[in-house]
Amino acid sequence: MMAETGGDSVRVETGACFCGDIAAEMHGEPFWVVSDHDADCRRAIGGPLMLWVGYRPAQVRFSRGTPRTFSKTPGVTRSFCGRCGTSIGYVDDGLADEHYLAIGFFDHPERFTPQAHGYWQERLPWVAFADDLPRQSGYTRGRDAAFGTPADRQKAGAKP
Ligand SMILES: [Zn+2]
Repeated sequence: MMAETGGDSVRVETGACFCGDIAAEMHGEPFWVVSDHDADCRRAIGGPLMLWVGYRPAQVRFSRGTPRTFSKTPGVTRSFCGRCGTSIGYVDDGLADEHYLAIGFFDHPERFTPQAHGYWQERLPWVAFADDLPRQSGYTRGRDAAFGTPADRQKAGAKP
């Protein structure tokens, strides 16, 4: 769907959870699309890997409902539908101005193309991709040093 704003068409993507209680509109282009193979996301999401679509918070508008949130790793907040449990997104205190949304939340997930693999070394043994995208052994986005990475925070033994 394209919205006309003063003659310039702005990309608008929509998303909703499985039960429909939560819906959102995302305006403009995402700045980052990444496949994540880390064990934390795998357990939180319930799938073999996760694909996150990164937007600026100002680009994301919840048009129906309010996601519930959960934090296990200090500084990382995951959001989901409180009724049906659909994973919606996550934010990280070390990633100011970045809001990641789950690919499955989008009404048209086929419109997004991954740009890299994160935590490639934690992939399941039968995961194989024919792409030539970067395969990084850790995070694909640099964290604010003042906050460190989620792994740093877990090692520090901080409790949420
Ligand atoms: Zn729902």
